[in-house]
Amino acid sequence: MVNKHTRTQTLANDGVIPIAEMLSLLMAAETGVAFGVKGLDGRYQLANQAMARLLHPAAACLAGKSESDLLPAALVDQLVRADQSIIEGATAASVEIDFPVNGQSRHHQWVKVPVLGPDHGLQAIASIIYELAPLAAPGTTQETVDRLEQANLELQQTVIDLKQAAGTDKLTGTWNRRRLEECVHYEMDRRNRYGHPLSMLIIDIDFFKVVNDQNGHATGDQVLQTLATLLRGRLRGSDTLARWGGEEFVVLCPNSRRSNAAMLAERLRKDVATAMFPVVGLLTVSIGVAECEPRESWQQWFERADEALYRAKRSGRNQVQLAATARGPDASEEYIVANFVQLVWRSAYESGDERIDHGHRQLFADANELLSAILSGETPDSVGKIVDSLMDDVVQHFRDEEAVIGTAGFPAAVEHIVLHRELVDKASRLVDDYRAGKQGIGDVFQFLAYDLVTKHMLGADRQFFAYVRPDVPPADRTGDRPPTENARQRGSRSTLASPADPA
Ligand code: GH3
Ligand code: MG
Ligand code: MG
Repeated sequence: MVNKHTRTQTLANDGVIPIAEMLSLLMAAETGVAFGVKGLDGRYQLANQAMARLLHPAAACLAGKSESDLLPAALVDQLVRADQSIIEGATAASVEIDFPVNGQSRHHQWVKVPVLGPDHGLQAIASIIYELAPLAAPGTTQETVDRLEQANLELQQTVIDLKQAAGTDKLTGTWNRRRLEECVHYEMDRRNRYGHPLSMLIIDIDFFKVVNDQNGHATGDQVLQTLATLLRGRLRGSDTLARWGGEEFVVLCPNSRRSNAAMLAERLRKDVATAMFPVVGLLTVSIGVAECEPRESWQQWFERADEALYRAKRSGRNQVQLAATARGPDASEEYIVANFVQLVWRSAYESGDERIDHGHRQLFADANELLSAILSGETPDSVGKIVDSLMDDVVQHFRDEEAVIGTAGFPAAVEHIVLHRELVDKASRLVDDYRAGKQGIGDVFQFLAYDLVTKHMLGADRQFFAYVRPDVPPADRTGDRPPTENARQRGSRSTLASPADPA
Protein backbone atom coordinates (compact mmCIF):
# COMPACT_ATOMS: atom_id res chain seq x y z
CA MET A 1 0.00 0.00 0.00
CA VAL A 2 2.21 2.75 -1.32
CA ASN A 3 1.28 6.37 -1.59
CA LYS A 4 1.12 7.07 -5.33
CA HIS A 5 0.55 10.74 -4.80
CA THR A 6 2.24 12.10 -7.94
CA ARG A 7 0.67 9.55 -10.30
CA THR A 8 -2.80 10.94 -9.76
CA GLN A 9 -2.05 14.62 -9.92
CA THR A 10 -3.34 14.81 -13.49
CA LEU A 11 -6.79 14.09 -12.11
CA ALA A 12 -6.84 17.40 -10.31
CA ASN A 13 -6.46 19.75 -13.21
CA ASP A 14 -4.74 22.86 -11.83
CA GLY A 15 -5.98 21.89 -8.41
CA VAL A 16 -9.59 22.91 -9.14
CA ILE A 17 -12.23 20.29 -9.63
CA PRO A 18 -15.57 21.95 -10.36
CA ILE A 19 -17.99 19.99 -8.27
CA ALA A 20 -20.84 20.20 -10.79
CA GLU A 21 -18.67 18.51 -13.40
CA MET A 22 -17.62 15.79 -10.96
CA LEU A 23 -21.21 15.12 -10.08
CA SER A 24 -22.29 14.98 -13.68
CA LEU A 25 -19.58 12.44 -14.40
CA LEU A 26 -19.76 10.20 -11.46
CA MET A 27 -23.16 10.19 -9.80
CA ALA A 28 -24.62 7.94 -12.52
CA ALA A 29 -25.94 4.80 -10.92
CA GLU A 30 -24.30 2.16 -13.11
CA THR A 31 -20.69 3.24 -12.90
CA GLY A 32 -18.10 0.89 -11.43
CA VAL A 33 -16.03 3.85 -10.29
CA ALA A 34 -16.84 4.71 -6.70
CA PHE A 35 -17.25 8.40 -6.08
CA GLY A 36 -18.11 10.42 -3.01
CA VAL A 37 -17.71 13.84 -1.43
CA LYS A 38 -17.21 14.50 2.26
CA GLY A 39 -17.33 17.78 4.08
CA LEU A 40 -14.46 19.16 6.12
CA ASP A 41 -16.12 17.64 9.17
CA GLY A 42 -15.16 14.25 7.67
CA ARG A 43 -18.76 13.20 7.01
CA TYR A 44 -19.93 12.10 3.56
CA GLN A 45 -22.36 14.49 1.94
CA LEU A 46 -22.96 12.33 -1.07
CA ALA A 47 -21.77 9.13 -2.61
CA ASN A 48 -22.72 7.12 -5.66
CA GLN A 49 -23.97 3.58 -5.38
CA ALA A 50 -20.59 2.04 -6.23
CA MET A 51 -19.08 3.89 -3.27
CA ALA A 52 -21.84 2.75 -0.95
CA ARG A 53 -21.40 -0.88 -2.09
CA LEU A 54 -17.67 -0.73 -1.48
CA LEU A 55 -17.60 0.99 1.88
CA HIS A 56 -20.78 -0.18 3.48
CA PRO A 57 -22.65 -2.90 1.60
CA ALA A 58 -25.34 -3.07 4.28
CA ALA A 59 -26.29 0.60 4.07
CA ALA A 60 -28.34 2.22 1.33
CA CYS A 61 -26.71 5.56 1.88
CA LEU A 62 -23.40 6.88 3.15
CA ALA A 63 -24.57 10.41 3.85
CA GLY A 64 -23.50 11.57 7.31
CA LYS A 65 -21.03 8.72 7.85
CA SER A 66 -17.28 9.17 8.24
CA GLU A 67 -14.48 6.85 7.09
CA SER A 68 -13.77 5.85 10.66
CA ASP A 69 -17.40 4.70 10.97
CA LEU A 70 -16.89 2.42 7.98
CA LEU A 71 -13.33 1.10 7.80
CA PRO A 72 -10.76 -0.60 10.04
CA ALA A 73 -8.43 1.67 11.96
CA ALA A 74 -5.31 0.71 9.96
CA LEU A 75 -6.88 1.86 6.70
CA VAL A 76 -8.30 4.96 8.31
CA ASP A 77 -4.79 6.05 9.34
CA GLN A 78 -3.62 6.04 5.71
CA LEU A 79 -6.72 7.90 4.59
CA VAL A 80 -6.26 10.51 7.30
CA ARG A 81 -2.72 11.13 5.98
CA ALA A 82 -4.10 11.54 2.45
CA ASP A 83 -6.71 14.01 3.76
CA GLN A 84 -4.01 15.88 5.59
CA SER A 85 -1.98 16.39 2.44
CA ILE A 86 -5.10 17.69 0.64
CA ILE A 87 -5.75 20.08 3.52
CA GLU A 88 -2.17 21.25 3.20
CA GLY A 89 -2.71 22.11 -0.46
CA ALA A 90 -1.89 18.97 -2.47
CA THR A 91 -3.83 18.73 -5.74
CA ALA A 92 -4.36 14.99 -5.23
CA ALA A 93 -3.41 12.19 -2.88
CA SER A 94 -3.84 8.50 -3.33
CA VAL A 95 -3.71 5.30 -1.34
CA GLU A 96 -3.81 1.69 -2.52
CA ILE A 97 -6.18 -0.39 -0.49
CA ASP A 98 -7.65 -3.88 -0.52
CA PHE A 99 -11.42 -4.19 -0.32
CA PRO A 100 -13.52 -7.33 -0.33
CA VAL A 101 -15.60 -7.60 -3.53
CA ASN A 102 -17.95 -10.57 -3.75
CA GLY A 103 -16.11 -12.16 -0.84
CA GLN A 104 -12.64 -11.78 -2.44
CA SER A 105 -10.02 -9.23 -1.53
CA ARG A 106 -9.39 -6.91 -4.49
CA HIS A 107 -6.79 -4.25 -4.98
CA HIS A 108 -8.10 -0.67 -5.33
CA GLN A 109 -6.71 2.77 -5.83
CA TRP A 110 -8.33 5.44 -3.64
CA VAL A 111 -7.72 8.92 -5.04
CA LYS A 112 -8.59 12.01 -3.04
CA VAL A 113 -8.90 15.44 -4.65
CA PRO A 114 -9.83 18.84 -3.24
CA VAL A 115 -13.19 20.46 -4.01
CA LEU A 116 -12.54 24.16 -4.07
CA GLY A 117 -15.10 26.94 -3.67
CA PRO A 118 -15.34 30.09 -5.79
CA ASP A 119 -12.70 31.71 -3.56
CA HIS A 120 -10.42 28.71 -4.18
CA GLY A 121 -10.69 27.77 -0.53
CA LEU A 122 -11.05 24.06 0.31
CA GLN A 123 -14.75 23.18 0.70
CA ALA A 124 -14.79 19.42 0.66
CA ILE A 125 -12.76 16.39 -0.30
CA ALA A 126 -13.83 14.18 -3.19
CA SER A 127 -12.86 10.51 -3.38
CA ILE A 128 -12.63 8.30 -6.44
CA ILE A 129 -11.98 4.61 -5.91
CA TYR A 130 -11.39 2.17 -8.73
CA GLU A 131 -10.15 -1.37 -8.90
CA LEU A 132 -6.63 -1.98 -10.11
CA ALA A 133 -5.81 -4.83 -12.45
CA PRO A 134 -4.46 -7.83 -10.44
CA LEU A 135 -0.72 -7.74 -10.06
CA ALA A 136 1.15 -10.21 -12.20
CA ALA A 137 4.60 -11.34 -11.17
CA PRO A 138 6.61 -8.45 -9.84
CA GLY A 139 8.13 -6.68 -12.82
CA THR A 140 10.57 -3.93 -13.44
CA THR A 141 9.96 -0.38 -12.34
CA GLN A 142 9.24 0.52 -15.95
CA GLU A 143 6.56 -2.18 -16.13
CA THR A 144 4.95 -0.82 -13.00
CA VAL A 145 4.96 2.68 -14.45
CA ASP A 146 3.46 1.40 -17.70
CA ARG A 147 0.77 -0.49 -15.83
CA LEU A 148 -0.20 2.60 -13.89
CA GLU A 149 -0.21 4.75 -17.04
CA GLN A 150 -2.50 2.16 -18.61
CA ALA A 151 -4.79 2.22 -15.56
CA ASN A 152 -4.86 5.97 -15.80
CA LEU A 153 -5.82 5.85 -19.49
CA GLU A 154 -8.55 3.37 -18.69
CA LEU A 155 -9.86 5.61 -15.99
CA GLN A 156 -9.94 8.51 -18.40
CA GLN A 157 -11.85 6.40 -20.91
CA THR A 158 -14.29 5.36 -18.19
CA VAL A 159 -14.84 9.02 -17.41
CA ILE A 160 -15.55 9.78 -21.09
CA ASP A 161 -17.95 6.84 -21.30
CA LEU A 162 -19.66 7.95 -18.14
CA LYS A 163 -20.04 11.45 -19.48
CA GLN A 164 -21.84 10.09 -22.52
CA ALA A 165 -24.10 7.90 -20.45
CA ALA A 166 -24.57 10.56 -17.79
CA GLY A 167 -27.89 12.19 -17.25
CA THR A 168 -27.83 15.03 -19.74
CA ASP A 169 -30.72 15.59 -22.10
CA LYS A 170 -29.24 15.52 -25.59
CA LEU A 171 -31.57 18.06 -27.16
CA THR A 172 -31.51 20.77 -24.53
CA GLY A 173 -28.36 20.08 -22.53
CA THR A 174 -30.34 20.17 -19.29
CA TRP A 175 -30.30 17.32 -16.81
CA ASN A 176 -32.56 14.48 -17.78
CA ARG A 177 -35.20 12.84 -15.69
CA ARG A 178 -32.92 10.06 -14.47
CA ARG A 179 -30.29 12.41 -13.14
CA LEU A 180 -32.93 14.56 -11.50
CA GLU A 181 -34.38 11.57 -9.72
CA GLU A 182 -30.93 10.56 -8.52
CA CYS A 183 -30.21 14.01 -7.16
CA VAL A 184 -33.58 14.76 -5.67
CA HIS A 185 -33.26 12.18 -2.92
CA TYR A 186 -30.08 13.79 -1.73
CA GLU A 187 -31.82 17.18 -1.64
CA MET A 188 -34.84 15.70 0.16
CA ASP A 189 -32.52 14.07 2.66
CA ARG A 190 -30.92 17.45 3.37
CA ARG A 191 -34.37 18.95 3.69
CA ASN A 192 -35.45 16.36 6.21
CA ARG A 193 -32.20 16.39 8.15
CA TYR A 194 -31.51 20.09 8.42
CA GLY A 195 -34.93 21.58 7.59
CA HIS A 196 -33.64 23.53 4.59
CA PRO A 197 -36.74 24.25 2.48
CA LEU A 198 -36.92 22.70 -0.97
CA SER A 199 -39.34 23.56 -3.73
CA MET A 200 -40.11 22.36 -7.21
CA LEU A 201 -41.56 23.95 -10.33
CA ILE A 202 -43.05 21.93 -13.17
CA ILE A 203 -43.09 23.99 -16.35
CA ASP A 204 -45.12 22.87 -19.36
CA ILE A 205 -45.35 24.65 -22.71
CA ASP A 206 -48.91 25.61 -23.61
CA PHE A 207 -50.30 24.10 -26.82
CA PHE A 208 -46.94 22.73 -27.88
CA LYS A 209 -48.60 20.15 -30.12
CA VAL A 210 -49.88 23.03 -32.25
CA VAL A 211 -46.31 24.35 -32.56
CA ASN A 212 -45.23 20.99 -33.98
CA ASP A 213 -48.30 20.57 -36.16
CA GLN A 214 -48.01 24.00 -37.72
CA ASN A 215 -44.25 24.38 -38.00
CA GLY A 216 -42.78 20.90 -37.97
CA HIS A 217 -40.93 18.86 -35.41
CA ALA A 218 -37.56 20.53 -36.11
CA THR A 219 -38.97 23.92 -35.16
CA GLY A 220 -40.48 22.32 -32.07
CA ASP A 221 -37.02 21.10 -31.15
CA GLN A 222 -35.56 24.58 -31.61
CA VAL A 223 -38.27 25.99 -29.37
CA LEU A 224 -37.36 23.48 -26.66
CA GLN A 225 -33.70 24.47 -26.92
CA THR A 226 -34.51 28.18 -26.77
CA LEU A 227 -36.76 27.67 -23.78
CA ALA A 228 -34.09 25.65 -21.95
CA THR A 229 -31.52 28.39 -22.58
CA LEU A 230 -33.92 31.07 -21.41
CA LEU A 231 -34.83 29.19 -18.23
CA ARG A 232 -31.23 28.33 -17.40
CA GLY A 233 -30.27 31.98 -17.77
CA ARG A 234 -32.85 32.99 -15.14
CA LEU A 235 -31.99 30.40 -12.47
CA ARG A 236 -29.54 30.56 -9.59
CA GLY A 237 -26.48 28.35 -9.65
CA SER A 238 -27.99 26.17 -6.94
CA ASP A 239 -31.23 25.57 -8.89
CA THR A 240 -31.41 22.53 -11.10
CA LEU A 241 -33.13 22.49 -14.48
CA ALA A 242 -34.13 19.13 -15.89
CA ARG A 243 -36.15 18.09 -18.89
CA TRP A 244 -38.75 15.78 -17.44
CA GLY A 245 -39.91 14.63 -20.86
CA GLY A 246 -41.53 16.05 -23.99
CA GLU A 247 -42.18 19.75 -23.43
CA GLU A 248 -42.12 19.55 -19.66
CA PHE A 249 -39.28 20.83 -17.47
CA VAL A 250 -38.68 20.58 -13.73
CA VAL A 251 -36.78 23.13 -11.67
CA LEU A 252 -35.53 22.07 -8.25
CA CYS A 253 -34.96 25.02 -5.91
CA PRO A 254 -32.99 24.16 -2.77
CA ASN A 255 -33.36 26.62 0.11
CA SER A 256 -36.59 28.02 -1.37
CA ARG A 257 -39.92 28.18 0.37
CA ARG A 258 -42.92 27.94 -1.85
CA SER A 259 -43.54 31.70 -1.79
CA ASN A 260 -40.02 32.27 -3.15
CA ALA A 261 -40.51 29.49 -5.65
CA ALA A 262 -43.81 31.11 -6.66
CA MET A 263 -42.02 34.39 -7.27
CA LEU A 264 -39.41 32.64 -9.36
CA ALA A 265 -42.15 30.81 -11.28
CA GLU A 266 -43.98 34.05 -11.95
CA ARG A 267 -40.78 35.70 -13.19
CA LEU A 268 -40.12 32.76 -15.51
CA ARG A 269 -43.69 32.77 -16.78
CA LYS A 270 -43.47 36.47 -17.58
CA ASP A 271 -40.06 36.15 -19.22
CA VAL A 272 -41.25 33.30 -21.43
CA ALA A 273 -44.44 35.14 -22.38
CA THR A 274 -42.47 38.15 -23.57
CA ALA A 275 -39.65 36.26 -25.33
CA MET A 276 -39.55 35.67 -29.09
CA PHE A 277 -39.11 32.03 -30.10
CA PRO A 278 -37.68 30.93 -33.43
CA VAL A 279 -40.31 30.78 -36.20
CA VAL A 280 -43.29 30.66 -33.82
CA GLY A 281 -42.76 34.04 -32.12
CA LEU A 282 -44.69 34.19 -28.87
CA LEU A 283 -45.63 31.28 -26.67
CA THR A 284 -46.53 30.69 -23.06
CA VAL A 285 -45.98 28.20 -20.29
CA SER A 286 -48.04 27.02 -17.33
CA ILE A 287 -46.27 26.29 -14.06
CA GLY A 288 -47.15 24.23 -10.99
CA VAL A 289 -45.24 24.92 -7.76
CA ALA A 290 -44.94 22.79 -4.63
CA GLU A 291 -42.69 22.87 -1.59
CA CYS A 292 -41.53 19.52 -0.25
CA GLU A 293 -43.33 18.74 3.00
CA PRO A 294 -41.90 16.84 5.95
CA ARG A 295 -42.12 13.07 5.54
CA GLU A 296 -43.47 13.41 2.02
CA SER A 297 -42.24 11.00 -0.65
CA TRP A 298 -40.83 12.20 -3.94
CA GLN A 299 -43.92 10.80 -5.71
CA GLN A 300 -46.33 12.61 -3.40
CA TRP A 301 -44.45 15.86 -3.73
CA PHE A 302 -44.30 15.56 -7.52
CA GLU A 303 -47.99 14.73 -7.72
CA ARG A 304 -48.89 17.87 -5.79
CA ALA A 305 -46.82 20.03 -8.16
CA ASP A 306 -48.33 18.20 -11.12
CA GLU A 307 -51.83 18.75 -9.79
CA ALA A 308 -51.08 22.47 -9.49
CA LEU A 309 -49.83 22.46 -13.09
CA TYR A 310 -53.02 20.75 -14.19
CA ARG A 311 -55.00 23.44 -12.39
CA ALA A 312 -52.98 26.12 -14.22
CA LYS A 313 -53.86 24.46 -17.53
CA ARG A 314 -57.53 24.14 -16.62
CA SER A 315 -57.75 27.74 -15.45
CA GLY A 316 -56.65 29.12 -18.80
CA ARG A 317 -52.86 28.43 -19.10
CA ASN A 318 -50.06 31.04 -19.07
CA GLN A 319 -50.16 31.12 -15.28
CA VAL A 320 -48.61 29.85 -12.07
CA GLN A 321 -50.56 27.74 -9.61
CA LEU A 322 -49.40 26.65 -6.18
CA ALA A 323 -50.01 23.28 -4.63
CA ALA A 324 -51.96 23.24 -1.40
CA THR A 325 -49.84 22.68 1.70
CA ALA A 326 -50.45 20.37 4.62
CA ARG A 327 -49.74 23.34 6.92
CA GLY A 328 -52.93 25.22 7.65
CA PRO A 329 -53.30 28.85 6.77
CA ASP A 330 -51.21 31.29 8.73
CA ALA A 331 -51.58 35.01 8.97
CA SER A 332 -48.39 36.02 7.24
CA GLU A 333 -48.80 38.12 4.18
CA GLU A 334 -46.48 35.80 2.34
CA TYR A 335 -49.21 33.21 2.78
CA ILE A 336 -51.95 35.53 1.55
CA VAL A 337 -50.13 36.38 -1.65
CA ALA A 338 -48.78 32.92 -2.28
CA ASN A 339 -52.24 31.40 -1.96
CA PHE A 340 -54.00 33.80 -4.20
CA VAL A 341 -54.30 32.63 -7.75
CA GLN A 342 -54.86 34.53 -10.94
CA LEU A 343 -58.45 35.51 -11.50
CA VAL A 344 -59.96 33.97 -14.57
CA TRP A 345 -62.91 35.64 -16.23
CA ARG A 346 -65.91 33.44 -16.94
CA SER A 347 -68.99 34.13 -19.02
CA ALA A 348 -71.13 33.42 -15.94
CA TYR A 349 -69.79 36.65 -14.42
CA GLU A 350 -71.37 38.78 -17.15
CA SER A 351 -74.18 41.06 -16.06
CA GLY A 352 -75.33 41.69 -19.60
CA ASP A 353 -74.53 45.39 -19.41
CA GLU A 354 -71.58 46.21 -21.63
CA ARG A 355 -70.19 49.03 -19.50
CA ILE A 356 -70.37 47.12 -16.22
CA ASP A 357 -68.84 43.98 -17.74
CA HIS A 358 -66.02 45.96 -19.28
CA GLY A 359 -65.31 47.50 -15.86
CA HIS A 360 -65.36 44.13 -14.13
CA ARG A 361 -62.99 42.61 -16.70
CA GLN A 362 -60.64 45.53 -16.28
CA LEU A 363 -60.61 45.06 -12.50
CA PHE A 364 -59.80 41.37 -12.92
CA ALA A 365 -56.89 42.30 -15.17
CA ASP A 366 -55.71 44.94 -12.67
CA ALA A 367 -55.82 42.45 -9.78
CA ASN A 368 -53.86 39.89 -11.81
CA GLU A 369 -51.27 42.49 -12.74
CA LEU A 370 -50.92 43.44 -9.09
CA LEU A 371 -50.47 39.81 -8.07
CA SER A 372 -47.91 39.25 -10.78
CA ALA A 373 -45.98 42.37 -9.71
CA ILE A 374 -45.93 41.27 -6.07
CA LEU A 375 -44.97 37.69 -6.90
CA SER A 376 -42.17 38.72 -9.22
CA GLY A 377 -40.73 40.95 -6.53
CA GLU A 378 -41.14 44.28 -8.30
CA THR A 379 -40.13 47.42 -6.43
CA PRO A 380 -42.62 49.07 -4.02
CA ASP A 381 -42.66 51.97 -6.46
CA SER A 382 -43.95 49.97 -9.40
CA VAL A 383 -46.31 47.95 -7.16
CA GLY A 384 -47.61 51.30 -5.85
CA LYS A 385 -48.32 52.46 -9.41
CA ILE A 386 -50.39 49.36 -10.12
CA VAL A 387 -52.28 49.85 -6.84
CA ASP A 388 -53.05 53.43 -7.91
CA SER A 389 -54.32 52.47 -11.31
CA LEU A 390 -56.45 49.69 -9.78
CA MET A 391 -57.96 52.27 -7.39
CA ASP A 392 -58.62 54.66 -10.30
CA ASP A 393 -60.33 51.90 -12.24
CA VAL A 394 -62.41 50.94 -9.19
CA VAL A 395 -63.61 54.52 -8.72
CA GLN A 396 -64.38 54.90 -12.42
CA HIS A 397 -66.17 51.56 -12.56
CA PHE A 398 -68.28 52.30 -9.46
CA ARG A 399 -69.29 55.60 -11.02
CA ASP A 400 -70.34 53.84 -14.25
CA GLU A 401 -72.13 51.09 -12.37
CA GLU A 402 -74.04 53.56 -10.18
CA ALA A 403 -75.24 55.40 -13.29
CA VAL A 404 -76.41 52.15 -14.89
CA ILE A 405 -78.24 50.71 -11.85
CA GLY A 406 -79.82 54.12 -11.12
CA THR A 407 -81.44 54.34 -14.54
CA ALA A 408 -82.27 50.60 -14.62
CA GLY A 409 -84.59 51.00 -11.63
CA PHE A 410 -82.68 48.67 -9.26
CA PRO A 411 -84.61 49.16 -5.98
CA ALA A 412 -81.51 48.85 -3.76
CA ALA A 413 -79.37 51.24 -5.81
CA VAL A 414 -78.86 53.59 -2.85
CA GLU A 415 -77.71 50.77 -0.55
CA HIS A 416 -75.37 49.56 -3.25
CA ILE A 417 -73.90 53.05 -3.65
CA VAL A 418 -73.32 53.19 0.12
CA LEU A 419 -71.54 49.84 -0.12
CA HIS A 420 -69.29 51.24 -2.85
CA ARG A 421 -68.40 54.25 -0.66
CA GLU A 422 -67.51 51.96 2.25
CA LEU A 423 -65.32 49.79 0.07
CA VAL A 424 -63.50 52.75 -1.47
CA ASP A 425 -63.00 54.37 1.95
CA LYS A 426 -61.52 51.22 3.43
CA ALA A 427 -59.34 50.64 0.38
CA SER A 428 -58.05 54.24 0.48
CA ARG A 429 -57.19 53.89 4.16
CA LEU A 430 -55.30 50.65 3.53
CA VAL A 431 -53.41 52.12 0.59
CA ASP A 432 -52.46 55.19 2.64
CA ASP A 433 -51.26 52.92 5.45
CA TYR A 434 -49.27 50.88 2.91
CA ARG A 435 -47.58 54.03 1.63
CA ALA A 436 -46.82 55.07 5.21
CA GLY A 437 -45.22 51.68 5.83
CA LYS A 438 -47.92 50.73 8.35
CA GLN A 439 -49.51 48.03 6.22
CA GLY A 440 -47.96 45.10 4.30
CA ILE A 441 -48.75 44.64 0.63
CA GLY A 442 -50.26 41.21 1.36
CA ASP A 443 -53.20 42.68 3.27
CA VAL A 444 -53.67 45.46 0.74
CA PHE A 445 -53.71 42.92 -2.03
CA GLN A 446 -56.13 40.70 -0.13
CA PHE A 447 -58.59 43.54 0.29
CA LEU A 448 -58.30 45.01 -3.21
CA ALA A 449 -58.25 41.79 -5.19
CA TYR A 450 -60.45 39.64 -3.03
CA ASP A 451 -62.90 41.76 -1.01
CA LEU A 452 -63.25 44.70 -3.31
CA VAL A 453 -63.03 43.12 -6.76
CA THR A 454 -63.93 39.45 -6.57
CA LYS A 455 -66.21 39.20 -3.58
CA HIS A 456 -68.19 42.34 -4.31
CA MET A 457 -68.52 41.52 -7.99
CA LEU A 458 -69.58 37.91 -7.50
CA GLY A 459 -71.73 38.74 -4.48
CA ALA A 460 -73.51 42.06 -4.08
CA ASP A 461 -73.35 42.94 -7.76
CA ARG A 462 -75.36 39.89 -8.77
CA GLN A 463 -78.41 41.41 -7.10
CA PHE A 464 -78.82 43.95 -9.89
CA PHE A 465 -77.98 41.68 -12.82
CA ALA A 466 -81.63 41.01 -13.64
CA TYR A 467 -82.30 44.77 -13.75
CA VAL A 468 -79.55 45.65 -16.18
CA ARG A 469 -79.93 42.65 -18.44
CA PRO A 470 -81.68 43.81 -21.62
CA ASP A 471 -83.31 40.38 -22.16
CA VAL A 472 -85.11 40.16 -18.77
CA PRO A 473 -88.62 41.71 -18.85
CA PRO A 474 -89.48 43.94 -15.82
CA ALA A 475 -92.14 41.45 -14.62
CA ASP A 476 -89.49 38.80 -14.02
CA ARG A 477 -87.30 41.04 -11.88
CA THR A 478 -89.45 41.03 -8.77
CA GLY A 479 -87.89 37.81 -7.52
CA ASP A 480 -84.57 39.58 -7.41
CA ARG A 481 -85.40 41.98 -4.64
CA PRO A 482 -82.17 42.64 -2.81
CA PRO A 483 -81.80 40.72 0.41
CA THR A 484 -81.15 42.33 3.76
CA GLU A 485 -77.60 43.25 4.70
CA ASN A 486 -77.05 39.99 6.62
CA ALA A 487 -78.50 37.86 3.90
CA ARG A 488 -76.38 39.71 1.40
CA GLN A 489 -73.27 38.95 3.36
CA ARG A 490 -74.18 35.29 3.49
CA GLY A 491 -75.19 35.28 -0.17
CA SER A 492 -71.96 36.85 -1.30
CA ARG A 493 -69.90 34.28 0.62
CA SER A 494 -71.82 31.37 -0.71
CA THR A 495 -71.25 32.38 -4.31
CA LEU A 496 -67.50 32.49 -3.84
CA ALA A 497 -64.98 29.76 -4.31
CA SER A 498 -62.04 29.80 -1.94
CA PRO A 499 -59.28 32.03 -3.22
CA ALA A 500 -57.13 28.98 -3.70
CA ASP A 501 -59.78 27.34 -5.82
CA PRO A 502 -61.14 29.53 -8.55
CA ALA A 503 -62.92 26.75 -10.37
P1 GH3 B 1 -51.09 21.72 -23.12
O1 GH3 B 1 -51.21 23.20 -23.23
O2 GH3 B 1 -52.30 21.09 -22.51
O3 GH3 B 1 -49.83 21.32 -22.44
O4 GH3 B 1 -51.04 21.20 -24.63
P2 GH3 B 1 -49.82 20.61 -25.43
O5 GH3 B 1 -50.17 20.58 -26.88
O6 GH3 B 1 -48.57 21.35 -25.08
O7 GH3 B 1 -49.65 19.17 -24.79
P3 GH3 B 1 -49.72 17.73 -25.41
O8 GH3 B 1 -49.30 16.81 -24.29
O9 GH3 B 1 -51.03 17.48 -26.08
O10 GH3 B 1 -48.63 17.72 -26.54
C1 GH3 B 1 -47.27 17.74 -26.26
C2 GH3 B 1 -46.55 17.63 -27.58
O11 GH3 B 1 -45.13 17.71 -27.39
C3 GH3 B 1 -46.81 16.36 -28.28
C4 GH3 B 1 -45.45 15.88 -28.76
O12 GH3 B 1 -45.46 15.63 -30.13
C5 GH3 B 1 -44.54 17.06 -28.48
N1 GH3 B 1 -43.19 16.65 -28.15
C6 GH3 B 1 -42.78 15.83 -27.15
N2 GH3 B 1 -41.44 15.69 -27.17
C7 GH3 B 1 -40.98 16.43 -28.22
C8 GH3 B 1 -39.69 16.69 -28.76
O13 GH3 B 1 -38.66 16.20 -28.28
N3 GH3 B 1 -39.61 17.51 -29.82
C9 GH3 B 1 -40.71 18.06 -30.40
N4 GH3 B 1 -40.56 18.86 -31.44
N5 GH3 B 1 -41.95 17.83 -29.92
C10 GH3 B 1 -42.08 17.03 -28.84
MG1 MG C 1 -47.94 21.34 -23.05
MG1 MG D 1 -70.82 46.93 -7.41
